[in-house]
Amino acid sequence: VARHHDHHHDEAGRRASDATDAATRVDALVERLRATGGRVTEARRAVLRVLVEAGSAHLSAEEIAERVHASTPQVHLSTVYRTLESLEEAGLLRQARLGDGPASYHLASDEHHHAVCDVCGAVIVLPPDALTPVVARLARDHGFRADPRHVTIGGRCRACASDG
Ligand SMILES: [Zn+2]
Ligand SMILES: [Zn+2]
Repeated sequence: VARHHDHHHDEAGRRASDATDAATRVDALVERLRATGGRVTEARRAVLRVLVEAGSAHLSAEEIAERVHASTPQVHLSTVYRTLESLEEAGLLRQARLGDGPASYHLASDEHHHAVCDVCGAVIVLPPDALTPVVARLARDHGFRADPRHVTIGGRCRACASDG
């Protein structure tokens, strides 16, 4: 089911094979859902596909519902909301808050952290290993086993910092 999407925020750029990669990732997630005893419904598959295609974009429940509706109109909005809840319970999704905005959803397998500009709200996505030195230090000095998830670091982006 190779679908075309115009609004990718991923700056890495998209190659032709990415549609296939996305389908493969959706299949893998569906398999995990099945393995945990979850029912595989059209709505669940549609929601997972939207999240895979969104990459590290931060979609609210409403935005996810809109995209699901665009690709799979027969899935009702209320079903999308219920689906998000059940996929979160199944451990496939995580709800995350970024600044003051509405909660957004991520695939649990898509861990990352952020720097968010306090002035303009610009978001920089950081890889999971960005906090490795902090995790190592907590373990060494405090015996603390840190498991940082979706950490947000405040501050000012380059443009806002140079404004004064
Ligand atoms: Zn800024
Ligand atoms: Zn995030």
